[in-house]
Amino acid sequence: MNISVLGATGSIGTQTLDVVRKCLPNARVRVLTGNANVPLLAALTDEFRPDMVWVPDGARAIELEKLLQHKGVKTEILTGDDELIACAVHDPVEVVVNALVGKAGLSPTLAAIRAGKDIALANKESLVTAGGLIMGLARDNNVRIVPIDSEHSAILQCLQGKLTGNDVGVEKIILTASGGPFRTWPQEHIAAATAADALRHPNWTMGPKITIDSATLMNKGLELIEAMWLFGQPMENIEILVHPQSIIHSMVQFIDGAIMAQMGTPDMRLPILYALAGPDRVSNNYPRLDFLTTKDLTFEAPDMKRFPCLALAKHAADVGGTLPAVMNAVNEWAVGRYLNNKIDFYGISALIAEAFDSYTVKEVNDIADIHEAEAWAMEFVNLMGTA
Ligand code: NAD
Ligand code: MG
Repeated sequence: MNISVLGATGSIGTQTLDVVRKCLPNARVRVLTGNANVPLLAALTDEFRPDMVWVPDGARAIELEKLLQHKGVKTEILTGDDELIACAVHDPVEVVVNALVGKAGLSPTLAAIRAGKDIALANKESLVTAGGLIMGLARDNNVRIVPIDSEHSAILQCLQGKLTGNDVGVEKIILTASGGPFRTWPQEHIAAATAADALRHPNWTMGPKITIDSATLMNKGLELIEAMWLFGQPMENIEILVHPQSIIHSMVQFIDGAIMAQMGTPDMRLPILYALAGPDRVSNNYPRLDFLTTKDLTFEAPDMKRFPCLALAKHAADVGGTLPAVMNAVNEWAVGRYLNNKIDFYGISALIAEAFDSYTVKEVNDIADIHEAEAWAMEFVNLMGTA
Protein backbone atom coordinates (compact mmCIF):
# COMPACT_ATOMS: atom_id res chain seq x y z
CA MET A 1 0.00 0.00 0.00
CA ASN A 2 1.34 3.42 -1.03
CA ILE A 3 0.31 6.25 1.27
CA SER A 4 0.83 9.96 1.58
CA VAL A 5 0.75 11.67 4.95
CA LEU A 6 -0.43 15.28 4.81
CA GLY A 7 0.40 17.00 8.10
CA ALA A 8 3.11 14.43 8.91
CA THR A 9 4.74 16.47 11.68
CA GLY A 10 1.58 16.92 13.78
CA SER A 11 0.02 14.80 16.49
CA ILE A 12 -1.92 12.55 14.09
CA GLY A 13 0.82 12.63 11.45
CA THR A 14 3.56 11.39 13.77
CA GLN A 15 1.27 8.73 15.24
CA THR A 16 0.40 7.59 11.71
CA LEU A 17 4.10 7.13 10.99
CA ASP A 18 4.47 5.20 14.26
CA VAL A 19 1.70 2.87 13.04
CA VAL A 20 3.44 2.47 9.67
CA ARG A 21 6.77 1.71 11.37
CA LYS A 22 5.44 -0.79 13.88
CA CYS A 23 2.38 -2.40 12.30
CA LEU A 24 2.32 -2.02 8.51
CA PRO A 25 5.54 -3.40 6.98
CA ASN A 26 3.98 -3.34 3.50
CA ALA A 27 3.04 0.35 3.59
CA ARG A 28 5.28 2.72 1.62
CA VAL A 29 5.23 6.41 2.46
CA ARG A 30 5.42 8.27 -0.88
CA VAL A 31 4.58 11.82 0.27
CA LEU A 32 5.13 13.80 3.49
CA THR A 33 4.04 17.38 4.25
CA GLY A 34 4.88 19.64 7.18
CA ASN A 35 4.78 23.28 8.14
CA ALA A 36 6.80 24.95 10.89
CA ASN A 37 8.71 21.98 12.32
CA VAL A 38 11.27 21.57 9.53
CA PRO A 39 13.84 19.59 11.59
CA LEU A 40 11.25 16.89 12.33
CA LEU A 41 10.16 16.83 8.69
CA ALA A 42 13.80 16.44 7.64
CA ALA A 43 14.26 13.49 10.01
CA LEU A 44 11.07 11.83 8.72
CA THR A 45 12.12 12.41 5.11
CA ASP A 46 15.49 10.80 5.83
CA GLU A 47 13.76 7.84 7.48
CA PHE A 48 10.93 7.20 4.98
CA ARG A 49 12.55 8.45 1.74
CA PRO A 50 9.28 9.59 0.12
CA ASP A 51 9.09 10.71 -3.54
CA MET A 52 7.94 14.17 -2.47
CA VAL A 53 8.04 16.36 0.62
CA TRP A 54 6.17 19.66 0.98
CA VAL A 55 6.62 22.81 3.07
CA PRO A 56 4.59 26.02 2.61
CA ASP A 57 7.31 28.39 1.40
CA GLY A 58 10.76 28.84 -0.12
CA ALA A 59 12.48 29.76 3.16
CA ARG A 60 11.43 26.47 4.75
CA ALA A 61 12.36 24.59 1.57
CA ILE A 62 15.92 25.98 1.83
CA GLU A 63 16.08 25.02 5.52
CA LEU A 64 14.87 21.52 4.66
CA GLU A 65 17.31 21.17 1.78
CA LYS A 66 20.21 22.11 4.09
CA LEU A 67 19.16 19.55 6.68
CA LEU A 68 18.94 16.85 4.02
CA GLN A 69 22.29 17.67 2.43
CA HIS A 70 24.80 14.80 2.59
CA LYS A 71 22.03 12.31 3.45
CA GLY A 72 21.71 10.96 -0.08
CA VAL A 73 17.97 11.65 -0.10
CA LYS A 74 16.46 11.91 -3.62
CA THR A 75 13.11 13.31 -2.44
CA GLU A 76 11.71 16.24 -4.42
CA ILE A 77 10.98 19.32 -2.27
CA LEU A 78 7.75 21.16 -3.11
CA THR A 79 6.22 24.44 -1.88
CA GLY A 80 3.05 26.49 -2.31
CA ASP A 81 -0.71 25.78 -2.43
CA ASP A 82 -0.75 24.17 -5.91
CA GLU A 83 2.02 21.80 -4.94
CA LEU A 84 0.10 20.75 -1.81
CA ILE A 85 -2.60 19.61 -4.23
CA ALA A 86 0.08 17.76 -6.23
CA CYS A 87 0.92 15.94 -2.98
CA ALA A 88 -2.73 14.92 -2.57
CA VAL A 89 -2.98 13.46 -6.07
CA HIS A 90 0.49 11.87 -6.49
CA ASP A 91 -0.01 9.01 -8.92
CA PRO A 92 1.34 5.94 -7.08
CA VAL A 93 -0.55 6.73 -3.87
CA GLU A 94 -3.66 4.72 -3.03
CA VAL A 95 -4.48 6.16 0.40
CA VAL A 96 -4.12 9.78 1.46
CA VAL A 97 -3.92 10.34 5.22
CA ASN A 98 -5.25 13.86 5.73
CA ALA A 99 -3.88 14.98 9.11
CA LEU A 100 -3.86 18.69 8.29
CA VAL A 101 -5.54 20.97 10.80
CA GLY A 102 -8.38 23.38 9.99
CA LYS A 103 -9.77 24.64 6.73
CA ALA A 104 -6.41 24.15 4.95
CA GLY A 105 -7.41 20.47 4.73
CA LEU A 106 -10.41 20.88 2.42
CA SER A 107 -8.82 21.46 -1.00
CA PRO A 108 -6.41 18.49 -0.67
CA THR A 109 -9.33 16.27 0.42
CA LEU A 110 -11.38 17.22 -2.65
CA ALA A 111 -8.43 16.88 -5.02
CA ALA A 112 -7.51 13.45 -3.65
CA ILE A 113 -11.08 12.19 -4.04
CA ARG A 114 -11.22 13.45 -7.64
CA ALA A 115 -7.99 11.56 -8.28
CA GLY A 116 -9.62 8.37 -6.97
CA LYS A 117 -7.61 8.07 -3.75
CA ASP A 118 -9.14 6.57 -0.63
CA ILE A 119 -8.97 9.00 2.28
CA ALA A 120 -8.02 8.23 5.87
CA LEU A 121 -9.50 11.40 7.26
CA ALA A 122 -8.40 13.07 10.48
CA ASN A 123 -9.20 16.55 9.15
CA LYS A 124 -12.82 16.67 10.35
CA GLU A 125 -13.03 20.33 9.30
CA SER A 126 -13.24 19.14 5.64
CA LEU A 127 -16.46 17.28 6.34
CA VAL A 128 -17.88 20.03 8.53
CA THR A 129 -17.48 22.68 5.84
CA ALA A 130 -18.21 20.65 2.71
CA GLY A 131 -19.60 17.27 3.79
CA GLY A 132 -22.24 17.17 1.04
CA LEU A 133 -19.71 17.87 -1.72
CA ILE A 134 -17.20 15.40 -0.29
CA MET A 135 -19.63 12.52 0.14
CA GLY A 136 -21.13 13.14 -3.33
CA LEU A 137 -17.72 13.21 -4.98
CA ALA A 138 -16.62 10.13 -3.06
CA ARG A 139 -19.66 8.21 -4.34
CA ASP A 140 -19.04 9.36 -7.94
CA ASN A 141 -15.37 8.38 -7.78
CA ASN A 142 -15.92 5.16 -5.83
CA VAL A 143 -13.67 6.38 -3.04
CA ARG A 144 -13.85 5.41 0.64
CA ILE A 145 -13.71 8.15 3.27
CA VAL A 146 -12.53 6.35 6.38
CA PRO A 147 -12.49 8.29 9.65
CA ILE A 148 -9.45 8.50 11.91
CA ASP A 149 -11.36 10.38 14.62
CA SER A 150 -11.66 7.88 17.50
CA GLU A 151 -15.44 8.27 17.92
CA HIS A 152 -16.15 7.79 14.22
CA SER A 153 -13.74 4.89 14.04
CA ALA A 154 -15.65 3.37 16.97
CA ILE A 155 -18.95 3.82 15.12
CA LEU A 156 -17.46 2.28 11.98
CA GLN A 157 -16.20 -0.68 14.03
CA CYS A 158 -19.64 -1.10 15.65
CA LEU A 159 -21.00 -1.21 12.07
CA GLN A 160 -18.42 -3.92 11.26
CA GLY A 161 -16.62 -1.69 8.79
CA LYS A 162 -19.73 -0.55 6.87
CA LEU A 163 -19.78 3.15 6.06
CA THR A 164 -23.56 3.44 6.15
CA GLY A 165 -26.06 3.41 8.94
CA ASN A 166 -29.28 2.94 7.01
CA ASP A 167 -29.36 -0.59 5.66
CA VAL A 168 -27.91 -2.22 8.77
CA GLY A 169 -30.69 -1.35 11.22
CA VAL A 170 -29.21 1.60 13.06
CA GLU A 171 -31.62 3.33 15.45
CA LYS A 172 -29.19 5.84 16.84
CA ILE A 173 -25.54 6.69 17.28
CA ILE A 174 -24.27 7.51 20.76
CA LEU A 175 -21.33 9.85 20.29
CA THR A 176 -19.25 9.98 23.46
CA ALA A 177 -17.34 13.04 24.71
CA SER A 178 -14.73 13.30 27.45
CA GLY A 179 -16.19 16.65 28.50
CA GLY A 180 -12.74 18.26 28.31
CA PRO A 181 -10.65 19.87 31.07
CA PHE A 182 -13.46 22.17 32.31
CA ARG A 183 -16.19 19.55 32.64
CA THR A 184 -16.55 20.06 36.40
CA TRP A 185 -15.61 23.76 36.54
CA PRO A 186 -18.24 26.38 37.46
CA GLN A 187 -19.06 28.88 34.72
CA GLU A 188 -17.24 31.82 36.34
CA HIS A 189 -14.00 29.82 36.57
CA ILE A 190 -14.33 28.70 32.96
CA ALA A 191 -14.83 32.33 31.95
CA ALA A 192 -11.41 33.15 33.41
CA ALA A 193 -9.64 30.02 32.10
CA THR A 194 -6.45 30.67 30.16
CA ALA A 195 -5.25 28.83 27.06
CA ALA A 196 -2.68 27.08 29.30
CA ASP A 197 -5.55 25.72 31.46
CA ALA A 198 -7.44 24.61 28.36
CA LEU A 199 -4.38 22.87 26.91
CA ARG A 200 -4.32 20.44 29.86
CA HIS A 201 -6.66 17.80 28.43
CA PRO A 202 -7.36 14.97 30.89
CA ASN A 203 -7.21 12.01 28.48
CA TRP A 204 -5.63 12.90 25.13
CA THR A 205 -2.46 14.67 23.94
CA MET A 206 -3.35 16.43 20.69
CA GLY A 207 -2.51 19.47 18.59
CA PRO A 208 -3.41 22.87 20.09
CA LYS A 209 -6.45 23.64 17.91
CA ILE A 210 -8.37 20.44 18.66
CA THR A 211 -7.38 20.66 22.34
CA ILE A 212 -9.09 24.06 22.62
CA ASP A 213 -12.05 22.71 20.61
CA SER A 214 -12.28 19.91 23.19
CA ALA A 215 -12.34 22.42 26.04
CA THR A 216 -15.18 24.44 24.44
CA LEU A 217 -16.99 21.26 23.27
CA MET A 218 -16.90 22.69 19.73
CA ASN A 219 -14.97 19.52 18.93
CA LYS A 220 -18.06 17.47 19.74
CA GLY A 221 -20.17 19.80 17.61
CA LEU A 222 -17.77 19.33 14.69
CA GLU A 223 -17.90 15.58 15.30
CA LEU A 224 -21.70 15.62 15.28
CA ILE A 225 -21.65 17.11 11.76
CA GLU A 226 -18.84 14.72 10.78
CA ALA A 227 -20.96 11.74 11.92
CA MET A 228 -24.06 12.99 10.09
CA TRP A 229 -22.17 13.04 6.78
CA LEU A 230 -20.08 9.91 7.26
CA PHE A 231 -22.92 7.66 8.34
CA GLY A 232 -25.83 9.37 6.56
CA GLN A 233 -27.74 10.05 9.79
CA PRO A 234 -30.00 12.97 10.70
CA MET A 235 -29.06 15.01 13.77
CA GLU A 236 -31.97 13.54 15.80
CA ASN A 237 -30.37 10.08 15.51
CA ILE A 238 -27.13 11.17 17.15
CA GLU A 239 -27.01 11.51 20.92
CA ILE A 240 -24.04 13.23 22.54
CA LEU A 241 -23.11 11.62 25.84
CA VAL A 242 -20.35 12.78 28.17
CA HIS A 243 -18.20 9.86 29.31
CA PRO A 244 -15.20 11.34 31.16
CA GLN A 245 -12.99 8.23 31.10
CA SER A 246 -12.78 8.03 27.26
CA ILE A 247 -12.85 4.22 27.36
CA ILE A 248 -16.04 3.77 25.30
CA HIS A 249 -15.15 5.62 22.10
CA SER A 250 -18.78 5.64 20.87
CA MET A 251 -21.74 3.28 20.46
CA VAL A 252 -24.41 2.26 17.98
CA GLN A 253 -27.91 1.32 19.08
CA PHE A 254 -29.80 -0.91 16.62
CA ILE A 255 -33.55 -1.16 15.92
CA ASP A 256 -33.86 -4.26 18.11
CA GLY A 257 -32.48 -2.34 21.10
CA ALA A 258 -29.04 -3.99 21.05
CA ILE A 259 -26.13 -1.61 21.61
CA MET A 260 -22.60 -2.15 20.33
CA ALA A 261 -19.79 -0.21 22.01
CA GLN A 262 -16.18 0.01 20.92
CA MET A 263 -13.73 0.30 23.81
CA GLY A 264 -10.02 0.64 24.32
CA THR A 265 -7.30 2.78 25.79
CA PRO A 266 -7.41 6.42 24.64
CA ASP A 267 -4.68 5.89 22.02
CA MET A 268 -5.13 7.45 18.56
CA ARG A 269 -2.82 4.87 17.02
CA LEU A 270 -5.64 2.31 17.27
CA PRO A 271 -8.16 4.23 15.11
CA ILE A 272 -5.32 5.22 12.75
CA LEU A 273 -4.41 1.55 12.32
CA TYR A 274 -8.04 0.63 11.72
CA ALA A 275 -8.39 3.43 9.14
CA LEU A 276 -5.41 2.05 7.21
CA ALA A 277 -5.98 -1.70 7.62
CA GLY A 278 -9.63 -2.19 8.60
CA PRO A 279 -11.83 -4.14 8.58
CA ASP A 280 -8.83 -6.47 8.95
CA ARG A 281 -7.29 -6.62 12.44
CA VAL A 282 -3.54 -6.13 12.73
CA SER A 283 -1.66 -7.28 15.84
CA ASN A 284 0.44 -4.72 17.71
CA ASN A 285 2.13 -4.12 21.05
CA TYR A 286 0.30 -0.94 22.01
CA PRO A 287 -0.90 -0.85 25.64
CA ARG A 288 -4.04 -2.86 26.43
CA LEU A 289 -7.02 -1.90 28.52
CA ASP A 290 -7.20 -3.63 31.90
CA PHE A 291 -10.77 -3.62 33.23
CA LEU A 292 -9.62 -4.45 36.76
CA THR A 293 -7.59 -1.26 37.03
CA THR A 294 -9.99 0.86 34.97
CA LYS A 295 -12.00 3.20 37.15
CA ASP A 296 -15.80 3.36 36.90
CA LEU A 297 -17.33 4.12 33.54
CA THR A 298 -19.68 7.07 34.07
CA PHE A 299 -22.04 9.07 31.88
CA GLU A 300 -23.68 12.48 31.99
CA ALA A 301 -25.51 14.90 29.68
CA PRO A 302 -23.48 17.71 28.08
CA ASP A 303 -24.09 21.15 29.60
CA MET A 304 -24.87 23.58 26.76
CA LYS A 305 -25.02 26.54 29.12
CA ARG A 306 -21.41 26.30 30.25
CA PHE A 307 -20.36 25.11 26.78
CA PRO A 308 -22.34 27.26 24.31
CA CYS A 309 -20.17 26.20 21.35
CA LEU A 310 -21.98 22.85 21.36
CA ALA A 311 -25.38 24.55 21.06
CA LEU A 312 -24.02 26.76 18.26
CA ALA A 313 -22.69 23.74 16.37
CA LYS A 314 -26.03 21.95 16.77
CA HIS A 315 -27.73 25.01 15.31
CA ALA A 316 -25.30 24.99 12.36
CA ALA A 317 -25.87 21.25 11.88
CA ASP A 318 -29.63 21.85 11.86
CA VAL A 319 -29.57 24.81 9.45
CA GLY A 320 -26.90 23.34 7.17
CA GLY A 321 -25.96 25.06 3.88
CA THR A 322 -22.98 27.36 4.25
CA LEU A 323 -23.49 27.93 8.00
CA PRO A 324 -21.16 25.14 9.21
CA ALA A 325 -18.39 26.56 6.96
CA VAL A 326 -18.85 30.02 8.47
CA MET A 327 -18.88 28.55 11.98
CA ASN A 328 -15.75 26.52 11.32
CA ALA A 329 -13.82 29.47 9.89
CA VAL A 330 -14.82 31.87 12.69
CA ASN A 331 -14.06 29.20 15.29
CA GLU A 332 -10.61 28.52 13.84
CA TRP A 333 -9.75 32.20 13.90
CA ALA A 334 -11.12 32.68 17.42
CA VAL A 335 -9.24 29.62 18.73
CA GLY A 336 -6.03 31.14 17.34
CA ARG A 337 -6.79 34.38 19.18
CA TYR A 338 -7.55 32.51 22.40
CA LEU A 339 -4.29 30.55 22.11
CA ASN A 340 -2.48 33.91 21.89
CA ASN A 341 -4.36 35.23 24.95
CA LYS A 342 -6.11 37.92 22.87
CA ILE A 343 -9.68 36.92 23.79
CA ASP A 344 -11.19 35.06 26.72
CA PHE A 345 -12.83 31.62 26.71
CA TYR A 346 -16.38 32.79 26.11
CA GLY A 347 -15.09 35.22 23.46
CA ILE A 348 -14.94 32.23 21.11
CA SER A 349 -18.65 31.38 21.37
CA ALA A 350 -19.66 35.05 21.48
CA LEU A 351 -17.91 35.70 18.17
CA ILE A 352 -19.54 32.68 16.51
CA ALA A 353 -22.98 33.74 17.81
CA GLU A 354 -22.45 37.25 16.41
CA ALA A 355 -21.39 35.81 13.06
CA PHE A 356 -24.57 33.69 12.97
CA ASP A 357 -26.66 36.82 13.64
CA SER A 358 -25.08 38.80 10.78
CA TYR A 359 -24.81 36.05 8.15
CA THR A 360 -27.35 35.05 5.51
CA VAL A 361 -27.07 31.31 4.91
CA LYS A 362 -26.81 29.98 1.35
CA GLU A 363 -27.15 26.57 -0.25
CA VAL A 364 -23.95 24.71 -1.11
CA ASN A 365 -23.90 23.80 -4.81
CA ASP A 366 -20.18 23.80 -5.40
CA ILE A 367 -16.87 24.65 -3.78
CA ALA A 368 -17.20 28.33 -4.73
CA ASP A 369 -20.09 28.60 -2.23
CA ILE A 370 -17.79 27.35 0.53
CA HIS A 371 -14.98 29.71 -0.44
CA GLU A 372 -17.43 32.61 -0.49
CA ALA A 373 -18.72 31.68 2.99
CA GLU A 374 -15.16 31.44 4.34
CA ALA A 375 -14.27 34.77 2.75
CA TRP A 376 -17.32 36.32 4.44
CA ALA A 377 -16.16 34.83 7.76
CA MET A 378 -12.66 36.26 7.35
CA GLU A 379 -14.06 39.69 6.54
CA PHE A 380 -16.32 39.44 9.59
CA VAL A 381 -13.53 38.47 12.01
CA ASN A 382 -11.22 41.13 10.63
CA LEU A 383 -13.88 43.75 11.29
CA MET A 384 -14.51 42.38 14.79
CA GLY A 385 -10.79 41.94 15.49
CA THR A 386 -9.98 45.54 14.75
CA ALA A 387 -13.16 46.97 16.31
P1 NAD B 1 -1.39 19.34 14.78
O1 NAD B 1 -1.46 20.81 14.96
O2 NAD B 1 -0.63 18.53 15.76
O3 NAD B 1 -0.79 19.00 13.32
C1 NAD B 1 -1.23 19.65 12.16
C2 NAD B 1 -0.37 19.32 10.96
O4 NAD B 1 -0.79 20.15 9.86
C3 NAD B 1 1.12 19.61 11.15
O5 NAD B 1 1.87 18.67 10.40
C4 NAD B 1 1.31 20.99 10.55
O6 NAD B 1 2.61 21.17 10.07
C5 NAD B 1 0.30 20.97 9.42
N1 NAD B 1 -0.25 22.30 9.10
C6 NAD B 1 -0.74 23.21 9.98
N2 NAD B 1 -1.21 24.28 9.33
C7 NAD B 1 -0.99 24.07 8.01
C8 NAD B 1 -1.26 24.81 6.83
N3 NAD B 1 -1.84 26.03 6.87
N4 NAD B 1 -0.92 24.27 5.63
C9 NAD B 1 -0.35 23.05 5.58
N5 NAD B 1 -0.06 22.31 6.66
C10 NAD B 1 -0.39 22.81 7.86
O7 NAD B 1 -2.89 18.83 14.67
P2 NAD B 1 -3.49 17.39 15.05
O8 NAD B 1 -3.88 17.37 16.46
O9 NAD B 1 -2.61 16.31 14.50
O10 NAD B 1 -4.85 17.42 14.22
C11 NAD B 1 -4.92 17.21 12.82
C12 NAD B 1 -6.37 16.94 12.45
O11 NAD B 1 -6.77 15.72 13.06
C13 NAD B 1 -7.35 18.01 12.94
O12 NAD B 1 -8.36 18.19 11.99
C14 NAD B 1 -7.93 17.40 14.20
O13 NAD B 1 -9.23 17.87 14.48
C15 NAD B 1 -7.94 15.92 13.84
N6 NAD B 1 -7.90 15.02 15.00
C16 NAD B 1 -6.82 15.03 15.83
C17 NAD B 1 -6.78 14.16 16.92
C18 NAD B 1 -5.56 14.10 17.82
O14 NAD B 1 -5.51 13.26 18.71
N7 NAD B 1 -4.58 14.93 17.62
C19 NAD B 1 -7.85 13.31 17.17
C20 NAD B 1 -8.94 13.32 16.30
C21 NAD B 1 -8.94 14.17 15.21
MG1 MG C 1 -12.65 12.71 18.37
